[in-house]
Amino acid sequence: MNDHEVAVLRLGHRPGRDNRMTTHVGLTARALGADRVVLTGNATQSRETIEDITARFGGPFVVEQTEEPKRVVSEFPGSVVHLTMYGLPVQDVAADIRADHRAGPLLVVVGAEKVPFDVYERADWNVAVTNQPHSEVAGLAVFLDRLFEGRELEREWTDATHRVIPKATGKRVEPVGSDDGGE
Ligand code: SAM
Repeated sequence: MNDHEVAVLRLGHRPGRDNRMTTHVGLTARALGADRVVLTGNATQSRETIEDITARFGGPFVVEQTEEPKRVVSEFPGSVVHLTMYGLPVQDVAADIRADHRAGPLLVVVGAEKVPFDVYERADWNVAVTNQPHSEVAGLAVFLDRLFEGRELEREWTDATHRVIPKATGKRVEPVGSDDGGE
């Protein structure tokens, strides 16, 4: 962990039913500027997919699994943000959360099924991306973009084996360090 990391905790995972959503929580965390995602212990398939993408398209990004997600929350040595439709509007609290993040690490918690009430109590911030029910992936994406104020879109990647060459039309993926193109 670095002193100013942003970690994302995926709280809960129902194997089968949540596989795709948990994978997308991890991929979204990686793509939009977080340093680390922590998955619950039974999300091994999602972990492997996120690690495969990181190996191919770059990092740094760490994927971890835990058998004790509540302990990750209770012992986190920085501010804890819990994304929930019942929280305070992100647009009202983002500046104060950015100030917390300048002072230390941040843990962003997203749920799968019902989130235990002690998470609401431990959280320094219960934050809503609208007070409407939607998705942990959408909530995480909007929250990270507000946290980083768009700077995450310019991020550089290291140790990638492949990179996407932006094109107005079509698809181009190149091996890194080679002039060979590929579709
Ligand atoms: N019904 C569940 C509960 O009571 O906690 C929530 C299920 S929801 C499908 C899964 C996760 O999406 C939530 O735990 C929360 O992290 C996220 N989420 C859903 N709507 C949200 C919103 N409007 N703002 C922030 N996060 C949201």
